[in-house]
Amino acid sequence: GATPAAPVLELDNLVMHFGPVRAVDGVSMTIRRGSVVALVGESGSGKSTVGRCVVRLLEPSSGTVRLHGADISHLRRRALRPHRRDVSIVFQDPAGSLDPRLTVGSIVSEPLRLLRLTRGRTERERATTQALERVGLRTELADRYPHELSGGQRQRVSLARALVSSPSLLVADEPTSALDVSVQASVLNLLTDLQRDLGFACLFITHNLSAVEYLADEVAVVYLGTLVEHGPSAEIFATPKHPYTQALLSAAPVPDPVRQRRRSRVVLSGDIPSAIDPPSGCRFHTRCPIAVPMCAERVPELREVAGRRVACHLVSDEDEDGS
Ligand code: SF4
Ligand code: MG
Repeated sequence: GATPAAPVLELDNLVMHFGPVRAVDGVSMTIRRGSVVALVGESGSGKSTVGRCVVRLLEPSSGTVRLHGADISHLRRRALRPHRRDVSIVFQDPAGSLDPRLTVGSIVSEPLRLLRLTRGRTERERATTQALERVGLRTELADRYPHELSGGQRQRVSLARALVSSPSLLVADEPTSALDVSVQASVLNLLTDLQRDLGFACLFITHNLSAVEYLADEVAVVYLGTLVEHGPSAEIFATPKHPYTQALLSAAPVPDPVRQRRRSRVVLSGDIPSAIDPPSGCRFHTRCPIAVPMCAERVPELREVAGRRVACHLVSDEDEDGS
């Protein structure tokens, strides 16, 4: 077969604890050049914390974050600077992430200035104009302030800023969840088009599994700081293997009645437990509808099963449809 694309990001046993809170507890995955990986989980699963470690807004407690093979896990300001242009993030709430005192033009061009990517004002203005046009904003908006824009326009500004340095990886943390439903689709479509045109890899963080079916090449499902299932999107949507993935898919509305019938109806009960004292053994055992006594005792390893990785004692290769 074809050689796989080079890794852009490699996480190796990433751990992020905040005091007693074990937000991320051993996540390993690779994102290859140009591929879109959806990181999916409920709120409190640690998925945003993974994203913040990837862009090094957080320094991991242990484990490694490699960007194009370089270990950036513990680099400080100056040493980190050459890597900053290579990875950007857009947040859920564009109002909170844009400096209200700066004009749109300054917001978008700031990374160019801080990372010294352009020579002089003219070159910077040209790059800024191009970045605004790329996200479908009129260039006259460069002189406006964030509060003068709509939510959808502000998220487009965030995207323009994130992409102005031509990163090879974009972390998108729930980029449409704070927007009016009426503009969510247009921002998601824009992100999809930009990804296809510019070819950056993307870590797309979301609580809504169904939203990523047509966007993601791979899906990684996270529960209480650990990966429970990770593999090609088409296979995970067709035959989810982990009971938690099955539950997330059962909860999602599916327009296709054939596929709906093939999915088991696993209903999640209760809330995600606290990450301060996560359940013993399989962290999902307190909510898992098929748990057996062993599940509370032994931690299931993330194993290769049916073309993906799954962490569940009861999933095996013989188990054809996972139900
Ligand atoms: Fe459920 Fe046990 Fe599998 Fe965990 S290991 S998902 S508790 S069956
Ligand atoms: Mg979050």
